[in-house]
Amino acid sequence: RRALDAWLDGRFPEPQPRGGRSRLLVLAGPTAVGKGTVAAHIKAHHPEILLSVSATTRPPRPGEVEGEHYFFVDDAGFDTLVADGALLEHATVHNRYRYGTPRRPIEQALEQGRTVLLEIDLQGARQVRDADASAALVFLLPPSWDELVQRLVGRGTEDEAERARRLRTARVELAAQAEFDYRVVNDDVARAAAEVAALAR
Ligand code: 5GP
Repeated sequence: RRALDAWLDGRFPEPQPRGGRSRLLVLAGPTAVGKGTVAAHIKAHHPEILLSVSATTRPPRPGEVEGEHYFFVDDAGFDTLVADGALLEHATVHNRYRYGTPRRPIEQALEQGRTVLLEIDLQGARQVRDADASAALVFLLPPSWDELVQRLVGRGTEDEAERARRLRTARVELAAQAEFDYRVVNDDVARAAAEVAALAR
């Protein structure tokens, strides 16, 4: 009754995350916001949290290690993973390469009582939420749009056409932030990582 009365009085409650803390954390957010850096920071400082390693058709960047950053597969290999039901979610990101989360390691880790962190795109985050309602979806925000553009240009890993493609995706993704359970501003990597890790159960 109290909640209803408050509602009728126009005192609308803040949206509450569905499950509170969760053992399946999904970190999403626009391109170049620093998802990878925040995820790497959590991996380094919270060994109890398993950082999922995705499969992708994207070629490796210099310094990327097979099985550590991604499992690099060709299109036929990715098709096989999909056909085998080996992926918890998968999506074509920035209209280009395919990415997917291997299902088995995550199920195993959850069975063992561990917390799992997925660093994936918006389409994947939605699929994980549909597959597992207990997942906590975290949206990582840049301090500002200008900051986001600066970070994308500054890291210099994409050419002009790819940057434009990613910025178009970023606009769409930013518009979806209200779907998420939590929003974390990446103004400082260590601070943002601590905020995300604190959501783990
Ligand atoms: P990058 O090519 O820069 O490593 O990643 C590009 C985008 O793909 C990032 O937004 C990243 O979060 C997303 N991504 C990485 N792995 C996965 C995955 O397994 N599934 C989905 N849906 N997106 C992913």
